Amino acid sequence: MPAAEPGSLPGDRATSPVGWGVLTVLVAALILAAAALTSHGLARLVDANQALSRARESAVELSALTRRMLDAELGRRGFLLTGQPLHLQRYEHAVRELAPLRAALALGLQGVPGAAPLLGEVERAVDAALRSIEGSLRLRTGGGAAGPQPQPADGTAEAGIDAVRVAVAALEAAELRRLQGLRADHAAAVRINYLTFGLSVGLNLLLLAVLVWRLQVAARYAREARLALAQRNDRLADALAAMAARNDQAGALSELGRQLQSCNDGPQAIEVLWQRLPGLMQAASGAMYLHLPTHNQLRLAFDWGRAGFAPALEPQDCWALRRSQPFRQPIDGGSGVCAHLKAGQADGLGGLHCLPLSAHGEPMGLLVLDLPTLVDAEAEAEAERARVQATEQVALALGNLRLRESLRQQSIRDPLTNLYNRRFLEESVQRELARGRRQAAAACGTGVALLMVDVDHFKRINDQHGHDVGDEVLRQIAAVLQQCTRGSDVAARFGGEEFMLVLVDITPEQALARAEQLRLRIQTLPLHGGNGALGGVTVSIGAAHAPADGDSFEALLRAADRALYEAKHGGRNRVVRASAPAVAATPRAGPALRR
Ligand code: GH3
Ligand code: MG
Ligand code: MG
Repeated sequence: MPAAEPGSLPGDRATSPVGWGVLTVLVAALILAAAALTSHGLARLVDANQALSRARESAVELSALTRRMLDAELGRRGFLLTGQPLHLQRYEHAVRELAPLRAALALGLQGVPGAAPLLGEVERAVDAALRSIEGSLRLRTGGGAAGPQPQPADGTAEAGIDAVRVAVAALEAAELRRLQGLRADHAAAVRINYLTFGLSVGLNLLLLAVLVWRLQVAARYAREARLALAQRNDRLADALAAMAARNDQAGALSELGRQLQSCNDGPQAIEVLWQRLPGLMQAASGAMYLHLPTHNQLRLAFDWGRAGFAPALEPQDCWALRRSQPFRQPIDGGSGVCAHLKAGQADGLGGLHCLPLSAHGEPMGLLVLDLPTLVDAEAEAEAERARVQATEQVALALGNLRLRESLRQQSIRDPLTNLYNRRFLEESVQRELARGRRQAAAACGTGVALLMVDVDHFKRINDQHGHDVGDEVLRQIAAVLQQCTRGSDVAARFGGEEFMLVLVDITPEQALARAEQLRLRIQTLPLHGGNGALGGVTVSIGAAHAPADGDSFEALLRAADRALYEAKHGGRNRVVRASAPAVAATPRAGPALRR
Protein backbone atom coordinates (compact mmCIF):
# COMPACT_ATOMS: atom_id res chain seq x y z
CA MET A 1 0.00 0.00 0.00
CA PRO A 2 1.56 3.34 -0.99
CA ALA A 3 2.29 5.72 1.87
CA ALA A 4 -0.21 8.58 2.31
CA GLU A 5 0.93 12.09 1.52
CA PRO A 6 1.94 13.87 4.69
CA GLY A 7 -0.88 16.08 5.99
CA SER A 8 -3.67 14.37 4.08
CA LEU A 9 -6.00 11.58 5.08
CA PRO A 10 -5.95 8.35 3.05
CA GLY A 11 -9.70 8.86 2.34
CA ASP A 12 -8.86 12.12 0.64
CA ARG A 13 -7.37 10.16 -2.23
CA ALA A 14 -10.94 9.18 -3.17
CA THR A 15 -12.51 12.63 -2.56
CA SER A 16 -10.77 15.79 -3.67
CA PRO A 17 -10.76 18.96 -1.50
CA VAL A 18 -13.26 20.53 -3.96
CA GLY A 19 -15.51 17.48 -3.57
CA TRP A 20 -15.35 17.81 0.21
CA GLY A 21 -16.28 21.54 -0.03
CA VAL A 22 -19.30 20.84 -2.23
CA LEU A 23 -20.39 18.03 0.08
CA THR A 24 -20.08 20.28 3.13
CA VAL A 25 -22.13 23.07 1.49
CA LEU A 26 -24.74 20.49 0.41
CA VAL A 27 -25.01 19.03 3.88
CA ALA A 28 -25.22 22.52 5.42
CA ALA A 29 -28.00 23.45 2.91
CA LEU A 30 -29.84 20.24 3.74
CA ILE A 31 -29.60 20.97 7.47
CA LEU A 32 -30.89 24.53 6.92
CA ALA A 33 -33.69 23.27 4.67
CA ALA A 34 -34.66 20.66 7.25
CA ALA A 35 -34.61 23.33 9.97
CA ALA A 36 -36.74 25.71 7.85
CA LEU A 37 -39.14 22.90 7.02
CA THR A 38 -39.39 21.92 10.66
CA SER A 39 -39.97 25.53 11.72
CA HIS A 40 -42.60 26.03 9.01
CA GLY A 41 -44.31 22.74 9.90
CA LEU A 42 -44.34 23.62 13.61
CA ALA A 43 -45.75 27.10 12.89
CA ARG A 44 -48.40 25.52 10.71
CA LEU A 45 -49.20 23.00 13.41
CA VAL A 46 -49.47 25.71 16.04
CA ASP A 47 -51.77 27.74 13.74
CA ALA A 48 -53.90 24.66 13.03
CA ASN A 49 -54.10 23.89 16.73
CA GLN A 50 -55.06 27.44 17.58
CA ALA A 51 -57.66 27.54 14.80
CA LEU A 52 -59.01 24.19 15.92
CA SER A 53 -59.30 25.21 19.54
CA ARG A 54 -60.88 28.53 18.51
CA ALA A 55 -63.39 26.61 16.37
CA ARG A 56 -64.11 24.29 19.27
CA GLU A 57 -64.55 27.22 21.61
CA SER A 58 -66.90 28.88 19.11
CA ALA A 59 -68.94 25.67 18.92
CA VAL A 60 -69.13 25.57 22.72
CA GLU A 61 -70.09 29.25 22.83
CA LEU A 62 -72.80 28.76 20.20
CA SER A 63 -74.15 25.85 22.19
CA ALA A 64 -74.03 27.99 25.34
CA LEU A 65 -75.78 30.84 23.45
CA THR A 66 -78.59 28.48 22.43
CA ARG A 67 -78.90 27.24 26.01
CA ARG A 68 -78.98 30.78 27.40
CA MET A 69 -81.71 31.71 24.86
CA LEU A 70 -83.69 28.67 25.97
CA ASP A 71 -83.10 29.64 29.60
CA ALA A 72 -84.39 33.12 28.83
CA GLU A 73 -87.45 31.61 27.10
CA LEU A 74 -88.08 29.20 29.96
CA GLY A 75 -87.72 32.08 32.47
CA ARG A 76 -90.24 34.06 30.42
CA ARG A 77 -92.70 31.21 30.26
CA GLY A 78 -92.33 30.37 33.94
CA PHE A 79 -92.81 33.93 34.95
CA LEU A 80 -95.81 34.38 32.70
CA LEU A 81 -97.41 31.22 34.05
CA THR A 82 -96.57 31.58 37.73
CA GLY A 83 -95.63 35.20 38.18
CA GLN A 84 -92.82 33.94 40.39
CA PRO A 85 -89.85 36.33 40.45
CA LEU A 86 -87.59 33.27 40.42
CA HIS A 87 -88.39 32.76 36.77
CA LEU A 88 -87.79 36.35 36.05
CA GLN A 89 -84.43 36.07 37.67
CA ARG A 90 -83.67 33.07 35.52
CA TYR A 91 -84.51 35.13 32.48
CA GLU A 92 -82.39 38.03 33.65
CA HIS A 93 -79.46 35.74 34.48
CA ALA A 94 -79.60 34.20 31.02
CA VAL A 95 -79.70 37.62 29.41
CA ARG A 96 -76.70 38.75 31.49
CA GLU A 97 -74.68 35.79 30.45
CA LEU A 98 -75.55 36.29 26.82
CA ALA A 99 -73.57 39.49 26.53
CA PRO A 100 -70.04 38.03 27.17
CA LEU A 101 -70.96 34.99 25.11
CA ARG A 102 -71.86 37.15 22.16
CA ALA A 103 -68.71 39.19 22.59
CA ALA A 104 -66.58 36.04 22.76
CA LEU A 105 -68.30 34.65 19.66
CA ALA A 106 -67.69 37.86 17.76
CA LEU A 107 -64.07 37.80 18.78
CA GLY A 108 -63.62 34.09 18.08
CA LEU A 109 -65.18 34.26 14.63
CA GLN A 110 -63.43 37.48 13.70
CA GLY A 111 -61.59 37.04 10.46
CA VAL A 112 -63.10 33.61 9.82
CA PRO A 113 -64.04 33.52 6.14
CA GLY A 114 -67.84 33.35 5.62
CA ALA A 115 -68.58 33.55 9.35
CA ALA A 116 -69.47 37.24 9.60
CA PRO A 117 -72.85 37.08 7.68
CA LEU A 118 -73.93 33.98 9.58
CA LEU A 119 -72.89 35.54 12.89
CA GLY A 120 -74.86 38.61 11.86
CA GLU A 121 -77.88 36.41 11.30
CA VAL A 122 -77.45 34.90 14.77
CA GLU A 123 -77.02 38.37 16.33
CA ARG A 124 -80.13 39.63 14.62
CA ALA A 125 -82.13 36.51 15.57
CA VAL A 126 -80.96 36.78 19.20
CA ASP A 127 -81.83 40.49 19.32
CA ALA A 128 -85.25 39.80 17.82
CA ALA A 129 -85.94 36.94 20.19
CA LEU A 130 -84.83 38.97 23.20
CA ARG A 131 -86.99 41.91 22.12
CA SER A 132 -89.92 39.56 21.75
CA ILE A 133 -89.29 38.00 25.20
CA GLU A 134 -88.75 41.36 26.79
CA GLY A 135 -91.97 42.69 25.21
CA SER A 136 -93.92 39.76 26.51
CA LEU A 137 -92.53 40.24 30.03
CA ARG A 138 -93.17 43.99 29.96
CA LEU A 139 -96.79 43.30 29.20
CA ARG A 140 -97.01 40.94 32.22
CA THR A 141 -95.38 43.26 34.61
CA GLY A 142 -97.08 46.39 33.20
CA GLY A 143 -100.83 44.97 33.17
CA GLY A 144 -101.01 43.98 36.91
CA ALA A 145 -102.92 40.98 38.23
CA ALA A 146 -106.32 42.04 36.79
CA GLY A 147 -104.96 42.60 33.28
CA PRO A 148 -105.03 40.21 30.46
CA GLN A 149 -102.88 37.16 31.09
CA PRO A 150 -100.66 36.47 28.13
CA GLN A 151 -100.10 32.90 27.21
CA PRO A 152 -96.76 31.41 28.10
CA ALA A 153 -96.62 29.95 24.63
CA ASP A 154 -96.39 33.23 22.94
CA GLY A 155 -95.91 32.52 19.27
CA THR A 156 -93.69 35.55 18.63
CA ALA A 157 -91.21 34.65 21.32
CA GLU A 158 -91.08 31.02 20.30
CA ALA A 159 -90.63 32.02 16.69
CA GLY A 160 -87.76 34.22 17.78
CA ILE A 161 -86.17 31.33 19.64
CA ASP A 162 -86.61 29.09 16.61
CA ALA A 163 -85.03 31.76 14.43
CA VAL A 164 -82.11 31.85 16.83
CA ARG A 165 -81.89 28.06 16.65
CA VAL A 166 -81.92 28.15 12.83
CA ALA A 167 -79.28 30.91 12.65
CA VAL A 168 -77.10 29.13 15.24
CA ALA A 169 -77.52 25.84 13.38
CA ALA A 170 -76.45 27.53 10.12
CA LEU A 171 -73.41 29.01 11.87
CA GLU A 172 -72.63 25.67 13.55
CA ALA A 173 -72.87 23.87 10.22
CA ALA A 174 -70.49 26.37 8.68
CA GLU A 175 -68.19 26.05 11.69
CA LEU A 176 -68.41 22.26 11.48
CA ARG A 177 -67.29 22.38 7.88
CA ARG A 178 -64.54 24.77 8.83
CA LEU A 179 -63.59 22.47 11.70
CA GLN A 180 -63.29 19.53 9.34
CA GLY A 181 -61.09 21.60 7.07
CA LEU A 182 -59.02 22.67 10.05
CA ARG A 183 -58.69 19.03 11.19
CA ALA A 184 -57.46 18.09 7.71
CA ASP A 185 -54.98 20.99 7.87
CA HIS A 186 -53.90 19.86 11.32
CA ALA A 187 -53.42 16.30 10.14
CA ALA A 188 -51.38 17.57 7.16
CA ALA A 189 -49.30 19.72 9.50
CA VAL A 190 -48.71 16.71 11.75
CA ARG A 191 -47.68 14.62 8.71
CA ILE A 192 -45.32 17.33 7.53
CA ASN A 193 -43.85 17.50 11.00
CA TYR A 194 -43.34 13.75 11.09
CA LEU A 195 -41.79 13.97 7.65
CA THR A 196 -39.40 16.74 8.60
CA PHE A 197 -38.63 14.94 11.82
CA GLY A 198 -37.81 11.77 9.87
CA LEU A 199 -35.78 13.80 7.41
CA SER A 200 -33.84 15.45 10.23
CA VAL A 201 -33.22 12.12 11.92
CA GLY A 202 -32.06 10.61 8.59
CA LEU A 203 -29.84 13.58 7.90
CA ASN A 204 -28.34 13.43 11.36
CA LEU A 205 -27.77 9.70 11.02
CA LEU A 206 -26.08 10.36 7.68
CA LEU A 207 -23.91 13.01 9.27
CA LEU A 208 -23.11 10.66 12.12
CA ALA A 209 -22.15 7.94 9.64
CA VAL A 210 -19.93 10.36 7.70
CA LEU A 211 -18.37 11.51 10.96
CA VAL A 212 -17.72 7.95 12.11
CA TRP A 213 -16.26 7.10 8.68
CA ARG A 214 -13.99 10.14 8.78
CA LEU A 215 -12.88 9.27 12.29
CA GLN A 216 -12.12 5.71 11.19
CA VAL A 217 -10.18 7.02 8.20
CA ALA A 218 -8.31 9.42 10.46
CA ALA A 219 -7.55 6.59 12.90
CA ARG A 220 -6.35 4.38 10.02
CA TYR A 221 -4.20 7.21 8.71
CA ALA A 222 -2.74 7.73 12.16
CA ARG A 223 -1.97 3.99 12.36
CA GLU A 224 -0.41 4.02 8.89
CA ALA A 225 1.55 7.18 9.72
CA ARG A 226 2.81 5.58 12.95
CA LEU A 227 3.73 2.42 11.03
CA ALA A 228 5.48 4.41 8.28
CA LEU A 229 7.34 6.40 10.93
CA ALA A 230 8.38 3.22 12.72
CA GLN A 231 9.53 1.72 9.39
CA ARG A 232 11.44 4.90 8.56
CA ASN A 233 13.05 4.79 11.99
CA ASP A 234 13.93 1.12 11.50
CA ARG A 235 15.45 1.87 8.10
CA LEU A 236 17.39 4.79 9.60
CA ALA A 237 18.64 2.60 12.44
CA ASP A 238 19.67 -0.09 9.91
CA ALA A 239 21.46 2.51 7.79
CA LEU A 240 23.25 3.88 10.86
CA ALA A 241 24.21 0.37 11.96
CA ALA A 242 25.45 -0.42 8.42
CA MET A 243 27.40 2.85 8.38
CA ALA A 244 28.91 2.07 11.79
CA ALA A 245 29.81 -1.43 10.57
CA ARG A 246 31.36 0.09 7.42
CA ASN A 247 33.32 2.55 9.53
CA ASP A 248 34.50 -0.25 11.81
CA GLN A 249 35.51 -2.30 8.80
CA ALA A 250 37.25 0.66 7.16
CA GLY A 251 39.10 1.30 10.43
CA ALA A 252 40.08 -2.38 10.74
CA LEU A 253 41.10 -2.39 7.08
CA SER A 254 43.31 0.67 7.40
CA GLU A 255 44.83 -0.78 10.60
CA LEU A 256 45.54 -3.99 8.69
CA GLY A 257 47.07 -1.93 5.88
CA ARG A 258 49.29 -0.06 8.37
CA GLN A 259 50.41 -3.31 9.99
CA LEU A 260 51.16 -4.89 6.62
CA GLN A 261 53.12 -1.80 5.65
CA SER A 262 55.32 -2.22 8.69
CA CYS A 263 56.00 -5.89 7.97
CA ASN A 264 59.53 -6.66 6.80
CA ASP A 265 58.88 -9.96 5.15
CA GLY A 266 56.26 -12.46 4.03
CA PRO A 267 56.07 -14.50 7.27
CA GLN A 268 55.38 -11.37 9.30
CA ALA A 269 52.66 -10.37 6.86
CA ILE A 270 51.13 -13.86 7.05
CA GLU A 271 51.11 -13.62 10.85
CA VAL A 272 49.27 -10.28 10.70
CA LEU A 273 46.79 -11.57 8.11
CA TRP A 274 46.16 -14.73 10.12
CA GLN A 275 45.29 -12.64 13.18
CA ARG A 276 43.14 -10.02 11.49
CA LEU A 277 41.66 -11.35 8.26
CA PRO A 278 39.08 -13.84 9.66
CA GLY A 279 37.52 -11.13 11.87
CA LEU A 280 37.65 -8.53 9.13
CA MET A 281 35.97 -10.79 6.61
CA GLN A 282 33.46 -12.11 9.19
CA ALA A 283 33.81 -15.57 7.73
CA ALA A 284 33.25 -18.67 9.85
CA SER A 285 35.82 -20.59 7.83
CA GLY A 286 38.35 -19.71 5.25
CA ALA A 287 41.80 -20.12 3.81
CA MET A 288 44.50 -17.82 2.54
CA TYR A 289 46.74 -18.93 -0.32
CA LEU A 290 49.87 -17.13 -1.47
CA HIS A 291 51.11 -17.22 -5.04
CA LEU A 292 54.64 -18.47 -5.59
CA PRO A 293 55.84 -16.92 -8.86
CA THR A 294 58.74 -19.33 -9.14
CA HIS A 295 56.43 -22.36 -9.16
CA ASN A 296 53.31 -20.62 -10.56
CA GLN A 297 51.46 -22.31 -7.74
CA LEU A 298 49.43 -21.19 -4.74
CA ARG A 299 50.36 -22.52 -1.32
CA LEU A 300 48.11 -22.54 1.73
CA ALA A 301 49.40 -19.85 4.09
CA PHE A 302 46.78 -20.43 6.81
CA ASP A 303 43.20 -21.52 7.25
CA TRP A 304 40.54 -21.39 9.96
CA GLY A 305 37.19 -23.00 10.72
CA ARG A 306 36.36 -26.01 8.59
CA ALA A 307 39.07 -28.45 7.59
CA GLY A 308 39.97 -29.84 4.21
CA PHE A 309 41.39 -26.88 2.32
CA ALA A 310 43.93 -28.07 -0.22
CA PRO A 311 47.57 -27.39 0.83
CA ALA A 312 48.41 -26.16 -2.66
CA LEU A 313 46.62 -25.46 -5.91
CA GLU A 314 47.32 -24.55 -9.50
CA PRO A 315 45.85 -21.30 -10.87
CA GLN A 316 43.69 -23.25 -13.30
CA ASP A 317 42.08 -25.14 -10.39
CA CYS A 318 40.13 -22.05 -9.33
CA TRP A 319 37.44 -20.28 -11.33
CA ALA A 320 38.13 -17.01 -9.50
CA LEU A 321 41.80 -17.10 -10.53
CA ARG A 322 40.94 -18.09 -14.09
CA ARG A 323 38.44 -15.25 -14.45
CA SER A 324 40.29 -12.76 -12.21
CA GLN A 325 37.08 -11.97 -10.33
CA PRO A 326 35.27 -13.25 -7.22
CA PHE A 327 33.55 -16.57 -7.67
CA ARG A 328 30.84 -18.09 -5.52
CA GLN A 329 30.58 -21.87 -5.55
CA PRO A 330 27.25 -23.10 -6.98
CA ILE A 331 24.78 -24.15 -4.25
CA ASP A 332 24.03 -27.49 -5.88
CA GLY A 333 27.76 -28.25 -6.26
CA GLY A 334 28.44 -30.35 -9.35
CA SER A 335 30.85 -29.62 -12.14
CA GLY A 336 30.80 -25.84 -11.53
CA VAL A 337 32.74 -26.19 -8.26
CA CYS A 338 36.41 -25.20 -8.21
CA ALA A 339 38.74 -28.21 -8.53
CA HIS A 340 40.76 -27.30 -5.44
CA LEU A 341 37.60 -27.55 -3.28
CA LYS A 342 36.22 -30.70 -4.87
CA ALA A 343 39.16 -32.69 -3.62
CA GLY A 344 39.15 -31.74 0.07
CA GLN A 345 35.67 -30.44 0.92
CA ALA A 346 32.88 -32.95 1.24
CA ASP A 347 29.75 -30.81 1.38
CA GLY A 348 28.31 -27.32 1.93
CA LEU A 349 30.36 -25.73 -0.80
CA GLY A 350 27.53 -23.30 -1.66
CA GLY A 351 28.62 -20.72 0.93
CA LEU A 352 32.26 -20.69 -0.19
CA HIS A 353 33.53 -17.65 -2.05
CA CYS A 354 36.86 -17.54 -3.86
CA LEU A 355 38.37 -14.04 -4.01
CA PRO A 356 41.47 -13.57 -6.15
CA LEU A 357 44.20 -11.26 -4.83
CA SER A 358 46.18 -9.46 -7.48
CA ALA A 359 48.28 -6.31 -7.49
CA HIS A 360 50.40 -4.52 -10.09
CA GLY A 361 48.83 -6.87 -12.67
CA GLU A 362 50.30 -9.95 -10.95
CA PRO A 363 48.54 -12.66 -8.97
CA MET A 364 49.30 -12.40 -5.25
CA GLY A 365 47.10 -15.09 -3.81
CA LEU A 366 43.61 -16.34 -3.18
CA LEU A 367 41.17 -15.96 -0.35
CA VAL A 368 38.55 -18.67 0.19
CA LEU A 369 35.76 -17.59 2.57
CA ASP A 370 32.78 -19.42 4.01
CA LEU A 371 30.20 -16.64 4.14
CA PRO A 372 26.54 -16.64 5.18
CA THR A 373 24.07 -15.81 2.38
CA LEU A 374 22.24 -12.56 3.14
CA VAL A 375 18.54 -12.44 2.22
CA ASP A 376 18.59 -8.71 1.53
CA ALA A 377 20.09 -8.24 -1.96
CA GLU A 378 21.23 -4.71 -1.14
CA ALA A 379 23.02 -5.86 2.01
CA GLU A 380 24.61 -8.72 0.05
CA ALA A 381 25.84 -6.29 -2.63
CA GLU A 382 27.19 -3.97 0.09
CA ALA A 383 28.99 -6.86 1.81
CA GLU A 384 30.40 -7.95 -1.58
CA ARG A 385 31.68 -4.40 -2.20
CA ALA A 386 33.32 -4.33 1.24
CA ARG A 387 34.95 -7.73 0.62
CA VAL A 388 36.28 -6.69 -2.77
CA GLN A 389 37.65 -3.48 -1.24
CA ALA A 390 39.30 -5.45 1.56
CA THR A 391 40.83 -8.00 -0.82
CA GLU A 392 42.12 -5.20 -3.05
CA GLN A 393 43.81 -3.58 -0.06
CA VAL A 394 45.26 -6.89 1.15
CA ALA A 395 46.48 -7.71 -2.36
CA LEU A 396 48.04 -4.27 -2.71
CA ALA A 397 49.77 -4.62 0.64
CA LEU A 398 51.09 -8.06 -0.38
CA GLY A 399 52.16 -6.66 -3.74
CA ASN A 400 54.01 -3.80 -2.05
CA LEU A 401 55.60 -6.25 0.35
CA ARG A 402 56.72 -8.44 -2.54
CA LEU A 403 58.07 -5.38 -4.31
CA ARG A 404 59.92 -4.25 -1.20
CA GLU A 405 61.25 -7.76 -0.67
CA SER A 406 62.35 -7.96 -4.29
CA LEU A 407 64.11 -4.58 -4.04
CA ARG A 408 65.71 -5.63 -0.79
CA GLN A 409 66.85 -8.89 -2.33
CA GLN A 410 68.24 -6.98 -5.28
CA SER A 411 70.19 -4.78 -2.90
CA ILE A 412 71.69 -7.72 -0.96
CA ARG A 413 71.94 -10.38 -3.67
CA ASP A 414 74.38 -10.91 -6.44
CA PRO A 415 72.46 -11.06 -9.71
CA LEU A 416 74.61 -13.72 -11.37
CA THR A 417 74.72 -16.33 -8.62
CA ASN A 418 71.85 -15.13 -6.41
CA LEU A 419 74.18 -15.41 -3.42
CA TYR A 420 74.36 -12.55 -0.95
CA ASN A 421 76.59 -9.66 -1.99
CA ARG A 422 79.59 -8.26 -0.23
CA ARG A 423 77.64 -5.57 1.63
CA PHE A 424 75.24 -8.12 3.13
CA LEU A 425 78.15 -10.36 4.00
CA GLU A 426 79.87 -7.57 5.86
CA GLU A 427 76.71 -6.75 7.84
CA SER A 428 76.11 -10.41 8.62
CA VAL A 429 79.62 -11.02 9.90
CA GLN A 430 79.53 -7.91 12.08
CA ARG A 431 76.12 -8.94 13.46
CA GLU A 432 77.25 -12.49 14.17
CA LEU A 433 80.46 -11.29 15.83
CA ALA A 434 78.46 -8.98 18.07
CA ARG A 435 76.07 -11.79 18.95
CA GLY A 436 79.02 -14.12 19.70
CA ARG A 437 80.47 -11.50 21.99
CA ARG A 438 77.15 -11.11 23.81
CA GLN A 439 76.74 -14.84 24.32
CA ALA A 440 80.41 -15.45 25.22
CA ALA A 441 80.20 -18.47 22.93
CA ALA A 442 83.99 -18.65 22.84
CA ALA A 443 83.85 -20.33 26.22
CA CYS A 444 82.72 -23.55 24.59
CA GLY A 445 85.02 -23.19 21.59
CA THR A 446 82.43 -22.18 19.04
CA GLY A 447 82.49 -18.95 17.11
CA VAL A 448 82.17 -17.46 13.66
CA ALA A 449 84.20 -18.96 10.82
CA LEU A 450 84.96 -17.13 7.59
CA LEU A 451 85.88 -19.23 4.55
CA MET A 452 87.30 -17.37 1.59
CA VAL A 453 86.84 -19.50 -1.57
CA ASP A 454 88.68 -18.66 -4.81
CA VAL A 455 88.31 -20.63 -8.06
CA ASP A 456 91.67 -21.89 -9.26
CA HIS A 457 92.89 -20.68 -12.66
CA PHE A 458 89.51 -19.34 -13.52
CA LYS A 459 90.95 -17.04 -16.10
CA ARG A 460 91.84 -20.11 -18.14
CA ILE A 461 88.26 -21.33 -18.13
CA ASN A 462 87.12 -17.98 -19.44
CA ASP A 463 89.83 -17.97 -22.02
CA GLN A 464 89.27 -21.53 -23.16
CA HIS A 465 85.49 -21.83 -23.01
CA GLY A 466 84.21 -18.34 -23.11
CA HIS A 467 82.75 -15.92 -20.61
CA ASP A 468 79.29 -17.56 -20.60
CA VAL A 469 80.72 -20.90 -19.56
CA GLY A 470 82.72 -19.04 -16.92
CA ASP A 471 79.44 -17.54 -15.65
CA GLU A 472 77.79 -20.96 -15.57
CA VAL A 473 80.71 -22.39 -13.58
CA LEU A 474 80.32 -19.54 -11.10
CA ARG A 475 76.56 -20.31 -10.80
CA GLN A 476 77.23 -24.03 -10.24
CA ILE A 477 79.83 -23.36 -7.56
CA ALA A 478 77.43 -20.86 -5.94
CA ALA A 479 74.74 -23.57 -5.87
CA VAL A 480 77.10 -25.93 -4.06
CA LEU A 481 77.95 -23.20 -1.58
CA GLN A 482 74.26 -22.57 -1.03
CA GLN A 483 73.64 -26.27 -0.39
CA CYS A 484 76.45 -26.41 2.12
CA THR A 485 75.03 -23.63 4.32
CA ARG A 486 72.56 -24.02 7.18
CA GLY A 487 69.76 -21.52 7.83
CA SER A 488 71.92 -19.27 9.97
CA ASP A 489 74.98 -19.42 7.66
CA VAL A 490 75.62 -16.95 4.90
CA ALA A 491 76.99 -17.70 1.42
CA ALA A 492 78.10 -14.63 -0.50
CA ARG A 493 79.90 -13.67 -3.67
CA PHE A 494 82.75 -11.46 -2.62
CA GLY A 495 83.79 -10.35 -6.10
CA GLY A 496 84.92 -11.91 -9.43
CA GLU A 497 85.48 -15.64 -8.85
CA GLU A 498 85.83 -15.28 -5.10
CA PHE A 499 83.18 -16.37 -2.57
CA MET A 500 82.76 -16.18 1.19
CA LEU A 501 81.06 -18.53 3.62
CA VAL A 502 80.13 -17.35 7.09
CA LEU A 503 79.51 -20.27 9.44
CA VAL A 504 78.07 -19.46 12.85
CA ASP A 505 78.28 -21.36 16.15
CA ILE A 506 81.08 -23.55 14.82
CA THR A 507 84.49 -24.67 16.11
CA PRO A 508 87.64 -24.14 13.95
CA GLU A 509 87.85 -27.88 13.36
CA GLN A 510 84.26 -28.14 12.23
CA ALA A 511 84.80 -25.16 9.96
CA LEU A 512 87.86 -26.80 8.38
CA ALA A 513 85.91 -30.02 7.90
CA ARG A 514 83.11 -28.15 6.19
CA ALA A 515 85.64 -26.34 4.00
CA GLU A 516 87.24 -29.60 3.01
CA GLN A 517 83.86 -31.12 2.25
CA LEU A 518 83.05 -28.13 0.08
CA ARG A 519 86.31 -28.32 -1.80
CA LEU A 520 85.75 -31.98 -2.60
CA ARG A 521 82.17 -31.42 -3.82
CA ILE A 522 83.32 -28.67 -6.17
CA GLN A 523 86.16 -30.76 -7.45
CA THR A 524 83.74 -33.51 -8.41
CA LEU A 525 81.20 -31.21 -10.08
CA PRO A 526 80.37 -32.55 -13.57
CA LEU A 527 80.94 -29.32 -15.48
CA HIS A 528 80.68 -28.96 -19.24
CA GLY A 529 81.69 -26.16 -21.56
CA GLY A 530 81.09 -25.46 -25.22
CA ASN A 531 84.11 -27.56 -26.11
CA GLY A 532 83.09 -30.54 -24.01
CA ALA A 533 83.90 -31.50 -20.42
CA LEU A 534 85.73 -28.82 -18.45
CA GLY A 535 87.70 -31.21 -16.38
CA GLY A 536 88.10 -30.69 -12.68
CA VAL A 537 87.37 -27.20 -11.50
CA THR A 538 88.95 -26.70 -8.14
CA VAL A 539 88.89 -24.08 -5.45
CA SER A 540 91.34 -22.92 -2.81
CA ILE A 541 89.95 -22.01 0.58
CA GLY A 542 91.38 -19.80 3.31
CA ALA A 543 89.73 -20.29 6.70
CA ALA A 544 89.72 -17.88 9.64
CA HIS A 545 87.93 -18.21 12.95
CA ALA A 546 86.72 -15.59 15.40
CA PRO A 547 87.73 -14.79 17.99
CA ALA A 548 91.03 -16.66 17.56
CA ASP A 549 91.97 -15.06 14.22
CA GLY A 550 90.39 -11.68 14.80
CA ASP A 551 87.44 -10.03 16.49
CA SER A 552 86.33 -7.79 13.63
CA PHE A 553 85.27 -8.29 10.04
CA GLU A 554 88.40 -6.61 8.74
CA ALA A 555 90.69 -8.71 10.93
CA LEU A 556 88.94 -11.94 9.96
CA LEU A 557 89.04 -10.95 6.31
CA ARG A 558 92.74 -10.30 6.44
CA ALA A 559 93.34 -13.66 8.17
CA ALA A 560 91.23 -15.58 5.65
CA ASP A 561 92.94 -13.76 2.78
CA ARG A 562 96.36 -14.69 4.12
CA ALA A 563 95.28 -18.32 4.44
CA LEU A 564 93.99 -18.30 0.88
CA TYR A 565 97.24 -16.79 -0.32
CA GLU A 566 99.05 -19.63 1.37
CA ALA A 567 96.70 -22.16 -0.23
CA LYS A 568 97.40 -20.73 -3.67
CA HIS A 569 101.12 -20.77 -3.12
CA GLY A 570 100.90 -24.22 -1.63
CA GLY A 571 99.65 -25.60 -4.96
CA ARG A 572 95.93 -24.67 -5.00
CA ASN A 573 92.94 -27.00 -4.53
CA ARG A 574 93.37 -27.03 -0.78
CA VAL A 575 92.16 -25.62 2.50
CA VAL A 576 94.47 -23.60 4.70
CA ARG A 577 93.67 -22.38 8.15
CA ALA A 578 94.85 -18.89 9.03
CA SER A 579 97.83 -18.76 11.29
CA ALA A 580 98.62 -15.93 13.66
CA PRO A 581 98.88 -12.68 11.68
CA ALA A 582 102.39 -11.74 10.63
CA VAL A 583 103.35 -8.37 11.93
CA ALA A 584 104.75 -7.31 8.56
CA ALA A 585 101.76 -8.48 6.57
CA THR A 586 100.43 -5.72 4.37
CA PRO A 587 96.70 -5.11 4.71
CA ARG A 588 94.89 -5.25 1.44
CA ALA A 589 91.79 -3.64 0.17
CA GLY A 590 90.36 -6.71 -1.49
CA PRO A 591 91.02 -9.87 -3.45
CA ALA A 592 92.18 -7.89 -6.46
CA LEU A 593 95.53 -7.39 -4.69
CA ARG A 594 96.31 -11.08 -5.13
CA ARG A 595 95.61 -11.22 -8.86
P1 GH3 B 1 94.19 -18.00 -9.48
O1 GH3 B 1 94.17 -19.47 -9.42
O2 GH3 B 1 95.48 -17.47 -9.06
O3 GH3 B 1 93.07 -17.48 -8.68
O4 GH3 B 1 94.02 -17.62 -10.93
P2 GH3 B 1 92.81 -17.01 -11.55
O5 GH3 B 1 92.88 -17.09 -13.03
O6 GH3 B 1 91.56 -17.63 -11.05
O7 GH3 B 1 92.81 -15.53 -11.05
P3 GH3 B 1 92.86 -14.21 -11.82
O8 GH3 B 1 92.71 -13.13 -10.80
O9 GH3 B 1 94.05 -14.12 -12.65
O10 GH3 B 1 91.64 -14.20 -12.78
C1 GH3 B 1 90.39 -14.05 -12.36
C2 GH3 B 1 89.47 -13.97 -13.53
O11 GH3 B 1 88.14 -14.09 -13.25
C3 GH3 B 1 89.66 -12.69 -14.23
C4 GH3 B 1 88.28 -12.29 -14.67
O12 GH3 B 1 88.12 -12.08 -16.04
C5 GH3 B 1 87.41 -13.44 -14.27
N1 GH3 B 1 86.16 -12.97 -13.83
C6 GH3 B 1 85.91 -12.11 -12.82
N2 GH3 B 1 84.60 -11.95 -12.67
C7 GH3 B 1 83.98 -12.73 -13.61
C8 GH3 B 1 82.62 -12.99 -13.96
O13 GH3 B 1 81.71 -12.48 -13.39
N3 GH3 B 1 82.40 -13.88 -14.98
C9 GH3 B 1 83.38 -14.48 -15.66
N4 GH3 B 1 83.05 -15.32 -16.60
N5 GH3 B 1 84.65 -14.22 -15.34
C10 GH3 B 1 84.97 -13.38 -14.35
MG1 MG C 1 90.75 -14.42 -7.54
MG1 MG D 1 91.03 -17.45 -8.91
